[in-house]
Order: sequence, then C-alpha cells, then structure tokens
Amino acid sequence: MWPFFTLNRPLVWLALAALAGASVLPLLSLRLAALVVIAIGMVDGWRQIRLEHQRRRLGEQALELSQDGVMITNAANRIVIVNPAFTQITGYTLEEIRGLDPSALSSGRHDKAFYDRYWQTLKTTGRWEGEIWNERKHGDQYPQWLRVQACHDHKGRVSHYVGLFTDITRHKSREQDLRRIGFEDPLTGLPNRRRLHDLLASRLRHLRAGEGLDLALIDIDAFKTVNDSLGVDSGDRLLARFGQRLAAQVAGGIVGRLGGDEFMVIRTTTFDDHDKWIATLRQHLSEPFEIDESSLHLGLTIGSCRAPEDGADPNVLFQRLESALYSAKRHGRNHDRRFRPSLEVEGDRQLTILNELRQALAQGSQLELYYQTQHRLDDGEMVGMEALLRWHHPDHGLILPSEFIPLAERHGLMPVLGNWVIDQAVAQLATWRGQGLDVLPVWVNLSALQLIQGDLESHLISTLKQYRVPARLLGLELTESVLLDERAGDISRRLEALRREGLQIAIDDFGTGYSSMAYLKRLPVDKLKLDREFIRALPHDHADAAITSAVLAMAHGLNLDVIAEGVETAEQRDFLLARGCRHVQGYLYARPQPAGEVENRLRQAVANVYS
Ligand code: C2E
Ligand code: MG
Ligand code: MG
Repeated sequence: MWPFFTLNRPLVWLALAALAGASVLPLLSLRLAALVVIAIGMVDGWRQIRLEHQRRRLGEQALELSQDGVMITNAANRIVIVNPAFTQITGYTLEEIRGLDPSALSSGRHDKAFYDRYWQTLKTTGRWEGEIWNERKHGDQYPQWLRVQACHDHKGRVSHYVGLFTDITRHKSREQDLRRIGFEDPLTGLPNRRRLHDLLASRLRHLRAGEGLDLALIDIDAFKTVNDSLGVDSGDRLLARFGQRLAAQVAGGIVGRLGGDEFMVIRTTTFDDHDKWIATLRQHLSEPFEIDESSLHLGLTIGSCRAPEDGADPNVLFQRLESALYSAKRHGRNHDRRFRPSLEVEGDRQLTILNELRQALAQGSQLELYYQTQHRLDDGEMVGMEALLRWHHPDHGLILPSEFIPLAERHGLMPVLGNWVIDQAVAQLATWRGQGLDVLPVWVNLSALQLIQGDLESHLISTLKQYRVPARLLGLELTESVLLDERAGDISRRLEALRREGLQIAIDDFGTGYSSMAYLKRLPVDKLKLDREFIRALPHDHADAAITSAVLAMAHGLNLDVIAEGVETAEQRDFLLARGCRHVQGYLYARPQPAGEVENRLRQAVANVYS
C-alpha cells in the first residue's frame, strides 16, 4: 500500500505523464527529456517511499519507548494497536486483545451515563481527557489518566481513535495519604485532634434524652524514657499498640491521638458510672506491652470530664479535659482527675505561685534546706544526709518540692533555684566544718534542667572552692530520667569529669525508670538509691521483695553501693539487712529536718565518740 503515499507528489505525476507521452513524442530530444523527467519522478518517488518508511519506523519506536500506554482502535472502536507500556500496565498483549472493544478492560466502576458523556464529548470535540478506572488482566482495578483523540481520513471520517494513558495509582494513593494526613494520625491510623474535634461535635449534636458523653484524656507517664532507652522506633511501636488496645476496648466509642503520648477516648452512654469507666480503661491498659523483648508496664495519667454536665461545646470540653489532665499530673504520676470548675482557677493560682517563687528566690528567706540523715544498716551509724528543699510560704505554710519544682522547671527558674540549693548546702557544710563538727557528705538533688540550661559544673567547682569545702563531701543525686535526657549531652563524660573533681554521684529513685543494666554498667556512678515504691510493701509483697533482692545482687556484682529510700518499719529494715543492703534512709531513722536539728545530732555523735 505504501506506493500510494507517493501519489501526492507533483514530480511523480509529471513522471507518469512523461511516461504516457514518451512513446508518442515525435522528436528524439523530447523523448530523452521525457525519460529524464521519468527518472527524476522515480527518484523522487523512491525517496518518498524511503522517508515514509523511516517515519513509520520512528513512529513505531516512539510507541515502543513511550512510558504512556497507547491503544489505537479503528472506526468501529476495535483494538488494532497497543504498545509495550500498555502491556506492562494492563497485563494484556496485543494478541490477547486485538479486535476487542476497549470496554473489555473496564472496571465496572463507571455507570452508563459516564460512558454516554465520554462518547458524546469524543464525537463532538474529537477528544476526551480524564480519569477512568479500568481492570488489569489479573483482576485488580486501577485509575488511569486517559487522553483520547479521534483521527480522520482524507474525507473527514473518523478512521481511528488513539488513546494515551498513564497509571496514576501511586499518585492517587499519595493524594489519599494527603487527605488522610489532614484527619488521621499517621502513626496509629486513629483520628487526629482536628478529626476528634469534629467527631465530638457530631456526637454532641446527636445526643438523645438521657444520654451523655464520657471523655478521657490519657497521657503515658515517662514516655520519653521509653524513647530514650529503647529507641524512637520502639516508642512508635508502643504508641501504635497502645492506640490499638484502646480502640479495641471502646468499641462503639471514639479513640484518637492528640499528638505525642496523649490519647483521647469518648463514649456515648446512658450510665452514670464515669469513675468506673475510667477504672476499666486503666485496668485494660495495665497489662504489660511487649516491645522488643521488654515488657513495659505503663503508668497513665488521666484527665476526664462528662458532657453535657461539664460543657456542650467541643472547645470548652477540650480545654476542661486538658485542665483536668494538668491537675492530675501535678499530683504525681499514675493519677486520674475528673474536671471540677475549681481546676480552672488553679491555672491562675499557678501563675501567682510562680511569681511568688521568683520573689522568694530573690529574697531567699522563705526557702530552706532540710536534711534527712542516711544510716548504715548494721549499726545505725549516720553516714550522710540528703538536702531537701522546703518553701515556707507566708500564706500557704510549708510547700513541698513536688509542688513547686515542676513549676520552676517549666518556667526556666530551675538553674537559679538549683544553684541556690548548691550554695546553701556547701555553705552549711562550711559552717559545720568551721564549728569543728565531724561532717558527713551532703547529697543534693539535681534537676535535668540544671544540666541543660545552667553552667552546672563551673558553679559546683567554684562554690566548693569559695567555701573551701572538699568535693568528696558533696554528692549529686540524679534520677534515671535525668541520666537519659539527651539534651544533657554526653552525660557519662560530664559525670566522669565531676567524679575526677572528687564529687560523688548517685542514681535517685532507682527502678522507676527504664535504664538497662548494660547502660548502668557504663555509667560512672557510686550509688543507687532504691526507690521507696519498692520498699513500701516489703517484706510481704513478693514482686517488690524479688525486685529489691535482684537489684541488691546486681549492684553487688557491679560494685555499686545501694541505699534504700523510705524505710519506715523495722520489718523493712530487717529484710534489707538480710539481703545485704548496707545503707538506708527513711522515717524509721529520721525525717527531713532543719539544719539546726541535724546539727544537734552531729554534736551528739561527736559527744558519743568522746564519752
Ligand atoms: P527524693 O530525692 O527521692 O527525696 C526523697 C523524698 O522521700 C523526700 O520527699 C523525703 O521527704 C521522702 N521520704 C524520705 N523518707 C521517707 C519515708 O520513710 N517515707 C516517706 N513516705 N517518704 C520519705 P520530699 O522532700 O517531699 O522531696 C520530694 C522530691 O522532690 C525529692 O525526691 C526530689 O526528687 C525532689 N527534690 C527535693 N529537693 C530538691 C532539690 O533541692 N532539687 C531538686 N531538683 N529536687 C528536689
Ligand atoms: Mg533524692
Ligand atoms: Mg528518691
């Protein structure tokens, strides 16, 4: 058929005319001229054929190389040509579908009206472009972006339809992801804050007579230490599992993640058993979470409220849940608190306290260090003391550190407050030494913020120098969370440097964090302070007895001293003594006391030696 292409060339026509006329031309010269014209016409025709051939080959190559799927159908809409990308996307080869109507590839997702519009557009405009879902050979459906163009013959009739399409599955799923990100927490797949807000609003609108909503905001205690000790991936896994378990527990309710380690639960109910509901949630979450061969028991702090009693507006309810949670947190870990109107006043109270604390620090007269003595277990001999901060508030009386230290930490006051404690403790040691008393090491507590924000090391060294107190008389107590706080930099190196100066280091509240034994082994510390949580129920509680015994055995192996905190009874003392514990601190021996009273005990100790 290809010689046809050559017929639209004038030279070819001329050659044909010359060919017809050559035999009847009278003159030889004219015949020769006709032959030349014929030869030129043939050469031109031949060149055209070659060019056409080349164009075809290029067209075929382009089809083969195209990343877009190409399908050409004839005027009757039967498939005549497909390219390799088509086969790759759909799974069909040309042999399998030649002669078929393209509707054989359809997914069934679009209705008749869709195809009617498609044909109408194609017929009237000669083209169609849009998203269409088709089915691959092995059955799965996928979206494609299709452009179809009608091709016409020289009489203007449609001869073919050329369709070009791309597989937009990946693009679509990203679009879906984007849509989901707006409303869904990507880690747990649970509704995010925005979505929770909408869901809550919807539940509130659909409350029927006698129905109410129970709402709880759950915060995982010390979650940061999980991240720090097991790694962020494990932390993520824990959050995902936590969300799953919570969602399984409140079937028919709503569970979402507000961010970080905060989850929200909502249920519609006709019962008035809010506290029982919270207890059930707690119980369900108290089972350990198995993450990376670690069995994690989580402490939870919960703030809760009810609608419509505590508010019928989502914003108000969110705020009230947060103030309930905040109040629960202030009462220590693993607490829950239901919203009360008085809690809102508490926020203001906090601010007032903070300002008063600033003033107290500036004046110094309302703050005082109490000292709690530490003893050797076998003979009761005093071996040291811990400095514990007290605030004598002119209106509220004695305020304990658990009330104001978190406030100082949150508002940037901790380095100053911590330095004040160090100054006082070292000055007190200097005074006692000046009085010729046989002084014992004083241990001060350090907040993470002192290691992060202040210039702790130089303050310690300069204060000891200023008061001429030997560094061995000062001990530093750091909790596991302080040790694991990465904001403090290379903590091992910093502690090692302090020990080289002569200071002693203890891990406070040992056992409440997540530090692993391997980590402990590498840390330059002198002492573990076994948290009083484990001591409280001794010797009757089997688990606590086992933990205490294990810690003592392990510490012995690592050549670490252990001091048990919160020893209140003789039974506890005897149990510890029998397990090889050497030091104790607790009400059984002494409560924290003002310096004057401890001084009397120091004098008595000296007097006893000389009597
Ligand atoms: P901590 O360092 O673990 O201090 C021991 C706490 O246990 C003290 O509470 C002490 O009074 C209490 N305690 C001691 N023996 C017993 C006992 O036999 N039974 C009971 N039930 N309790 C006992 P306190 O003084 O209220 O201090 C609480 C926490 O506040 C301290 O825990 C420490 O973490 C922090 N803290 C205290 N003073 C300072 C300070 O100067 N700086 C920093 N950063 N934190 C401090
Ligand atoms: Mg302490
Ligand atoms: Mg402690």
